[in-house]
Amino acid sequence: MQHSTSSALVVSGWHRMSYNFHDNTLISQHLESLIRKLHAFVGNAVTQDRYIVFGAGSTQVLSAAAYALSLANSSSSHSPTRVVASVPYYALYKQQVEYFNSEKFKYEGDAHTWRNRSESDASTNVIEFVTSPNNPDGLLNKAVLHGPNVKTIYDRAYYWPHFTPIPAPADEDLMVFTLSKLTGHAGSRFGWAVVKDETVFNKMVLHMQVNSIGVSKDTQLRAFKLLKAILEEEAQIFDFAYQTMKSRWERLATTLSFSNRFSLQKINPQYCFFYNKVRESSPAYAWVKCEKEEDKDCYTVLKAANIIGRKGNVFGSDDNYVRLSLVRSQDDFDILIQRLQKLVSEEDGAISM
Ligand code: PMP
Repeated sequence: MQHSTSSALVVSGWHRMSYNFHDNTLISQHLESLIRKLHAFVGNAVTQDRYIVFGAGSTQVLSAAAYALSLANSSSSHSPTRVVASVPYYALYKQQVEYFNSEKFKYEGDAHTWRNRSESDASTNVIEFVTSPNNPDGLLNKAVLHGPNVKTIYDRAYYWPHFTPIPAPADEDLMVFTLSKLTGHAGSRFGWAVVKDETVFNKMVLHMQVNSIGVSKDTQLRAFKLLKAILEEEAQIFDFAYQTMKSRWERLATTLSFSNRFSLQKINPQYCFFYNKVRESSPAYAWVKCEKEEDKDCYTVLKAANIIGRKGNVFGSDDNYVRLSLVRSQDDFDILIQRLQKLVSEEDGAISM
């Protein structure tokens, strides 16, 4: 709202009607170069000598990546590529693989259970989704599986200074980002992948052509305008968003510090090369644990206090965990804190506030 004019977009009725840009691609080179500039400014990803492919949100990019990597691997003599993620995981990976029901890949659950098996079972190809920072718990996860038959898709949706310290530019083979978690424009549906290997990149581009003939040109224009405004305003958005998320996390942690019934995930502070200091994380979600034996269904416990979270089992975890979103409006967050304070103050033996 403070930068309404510089981020505004007016589009004439006749503008950008074609499928393609002038260079005959589906990808705006101007937007691509702004994305590289932004990553260089923030220092959160290496983009030099890397390819960039766009999608309708990271949701489409993630499925393109899974197809590209499993096609690269599989031949008819092989069993389907085994797709895994470590618990607690973002539910979409499993949902997509199961929904697409392709003979190319199959969802096989928690990455940890395959740790010792995959190396010995060299004939089966594996794709591990690594979410870093993780949704739901905000941890800077690393791949669990390694080896010649393992490919890794790094979902870097939350790897921005408002959510996490940036200890180094990410430099994985395939990294996925999204406007949804960078600026909050989830409804514009814009995501991108930074890809090392040209063959994988070409397969992802083909996937986008076959799946949707590329990303809406209106969306690309909107993303371009937003990123341009961010860079022209010297990326003040990060300070604004970091202060907002930091203050939310501190208020939440203080509120739950008075509780014996609920606990919050611990994330170790790290050196952040964006802010040049050791700093705490300021995650997008609270991964709340109900500590008491009788509170096995933590979702229902919170629901009774009019707090709506997402059940642990959605993330492959137990239901004594619940994820609370900290990226809703300020009003929503204030009400969340009020209701949590009330709930904590009603606890037997609560530490007095
Ligand atoms: N990855 C992660 C880890 C997410 O949390 C989300 C959104 N909740 C997405 C991908 C998908 O976001 P989008 O399609 O809006 O980019």
